[in-house]
Amino acid sequence: MALLADRFGRTFPYLRLSVIEACNFRCSYCLPDGYLGAKQRPAPLSREEIARLLRGFAQVGLRKLRITGGEPSLRRDLPEIIASAAAVGGIETIALTTNGTQLDKRVQRWREAGLTHLNVSVDALDRERFRAITGHDRLPEILRGLDLAHGLGFGAIKLNAVLLKGLNDDQLPAWRDYLRDHPVSVRFIELMRTGDNAAYFERHHLRASALEEQLLADGWRLQPRPGDAGPAREYAHPAFAGRIGIIAPYSKDFCAGCNRLRVTHTGDLRLCLFGNVGIPLRPWLQDDADRDRLAAALQSQLGLKAIGHQLHAGETGLTPNLSTIGG
Ligand code: SAM
Ligand code: SF4
Repeated sequence: MALLADRFGRTFPYLRLSVIEACNFRCSYCLPDGYLGAKQRPAPLSREEIARLLRGFAQVGLRKLRITGGEPSLRRDLPEIIASAAAVGGIETIALTTNGTQLDKRVQRWREAGLTHLNVSVDALDRERFRAITGHDRLPEILRGLDLAHGLGFGAIKLNAVLLKGLNDDQLPAWRDYLRDHPVSVRFIELMRTGDNAAYFERHHLRASALEEQLLADGWRLQPRPGDAGPAREYAHPAFAGRIGIIAPYSKDFCAGCNRLRVTHTGDLRLCLFGNVGIPLRPWLQDDADRDRLAAALQSQLGLKAIGHQLHAGETGLTPNLSTIGG
């Protein structure tokens, strides 16, 4: 079957799959009141549904899977989900985005199950700042978990920090100290406006361009991007083992290289993080015999994918906050 492609010539080897909506953190830009849940909501995809979903996507070219949430490590069967992804032919990269709270206890099992890449969200290296942003005083154990992960041979370990005016925009010196001898890439992500966070966005959104100017002045140099690179602009410096990536969703051309699709924890396809379109895939995940129908549904949905998001116009689409779809 042909690879997934849209009207603009983009192909989609990358799937970001949310496996759970719940989260144990209260990040002020995402779930400031914590996960409130709702008893009547449909159950998250089962392990069997996930395995069928991945086999269907693999048939139309899936090469890279990112498991996200909510907080994906809250799923007890995460090692089995990872192992079932590793068993699907064609998926070369299995990445996890996590807040890191289970790393010190579970990262070894995830690695053994077949996890290849790890992204951990660390919004500040200062313990009190971290607590203020996430609602939890758990930075030391997350950093311990990261140290453990470093010895496990991951393809890459990346840290994510959302840039927040007045909350963590003084952390660059602490990050420099960390990156001097930690061979990780920290990605500074511009805060995105979602359905729930308009007032917060107005207070705390910070353009990444000022940070990039400072990096250049300090001797950091923009690295050439490999063809399959994600949306980050990456900077390196000879005196540092680590790198700094900038993800600026409001910059022009952010969508031009889009190669990713998303599926929510209940199996709804999302063509864009901020889109208004997406169909439930769950009906095709109940029987192995529906694999071709699933692949055909994906092909036809791709015809509806827009050229880019409309965040500039204040259009945040179906996404109330990123915990519902995985960021
Ligand atoms: N709970 C996991 C975590 O925090 O890594 C995975 C889900 S979380 C929604 C995925 C990523 O989205 C995190 O790095 C988080 O910081 C980022 N994120 C959430 N809301 C955001 C927003 N409004 N703007 C930019 N990044 C956001
Ligand atoms: Fe939870 Fe991740 Fe959202 Fe923070 S960013 S509240 S850890 S889902």
